[in-house]
Amino acid sequence: MSGTRFHVRFPSVSFVSLAEFEEYLRDAQLRLDAHHAYERSLASTGEDILRDGTCAPCLRRARFTARTVGGEVLDDGRLVPNWREQLFCDCDDRLSNRNRALLHFLAAEAGLRQWSRVLLFGPPGAADRRIAAMAASLVSIPRLGFARAGAGVQGYRLDAADAAVHLVVSSDALHRVPPLEAALAELRRVLVPGGSFVFTVPFRFRAAHSVARLEGLPRVSGRLPTEAGGEVHALGWDILDLLRDAGFSTARAHVYWSDELGYLGSGNMIFLAVA
Ligand SMILES: [Zn+2]
Repeated sequence: MSGTRFHVRFPSVSFVSLAEFEEYLRDAQLRLDAHHAYERSLASTGEDILRDGTCAPCLRRARFTARTVGGEVLDDGRLVPNWREQLFCDCDDRLSNRNRALLHFLAAEAGLRQWSRVLLFGPPGAADRRIAAMAASLVSIPRLGFARAGAGVQGYRLDAADAAVHLVVSSDALHRVPPLEAALAELRRVLVPGGSFVFTVPFRFRAAHSVARLEGLPRVSGRLPTEAGGEVHALGWDILDLLRDAGFSTARAHVYWSDELGYLGSGNMIFLAVA
């Protein structure tokens, strides 16, 4: 990975709102339908689907493996894999579609450089080692803490100083964080002005509004735990408004797809908010 260079364009289209996205769906309907039909044509009754292509983070020819178990069952019994979480490359780190896309995006679109200071928010992920290798420094903070900020003021806090990092990366974690607004404000606080927050999250790409599923969570001393074990938000497009409300100057959802790069699946998104 010495002298990491990304000559491969990240194949995405980006949107600031559901309205913009719906306009794109109308304009690009034929192409998107063709992608969907193509992906279904790859369905199989076998355990694995193998695809040859290019691993963008490794910049090499690769064979991608998608396990069909747990995938969608078609009428004829063939299985469509969960493309987003499958299509593992055969490079050393065996990165999934989503993790390869995240690394590719960080370098090509979010300005990850060898002098970048990076904060990872959320549980450890398969791309972490590679992000660390691409950056000057990396700290990993799995969750918010609940702290007394001073004079009786309590709040959710990230254990990091103001404007401490260039990049915050979060890989499928925000939907498990009950105090979402507090988390976004904290992630904004620790970013240098102009720094980027990049994340993936399970996303309802046809939904305008996020839905909170906080009912039934155990409460500790009358307040919510700082992190729940399961999914507590089903996120929709208002996540972009929440990011802007939290002080980010721009927030966009990037939809990506490429057969050659092993980025199959409809509605795959990476989010970028600039502090
Ligand atoms: Zn690879």
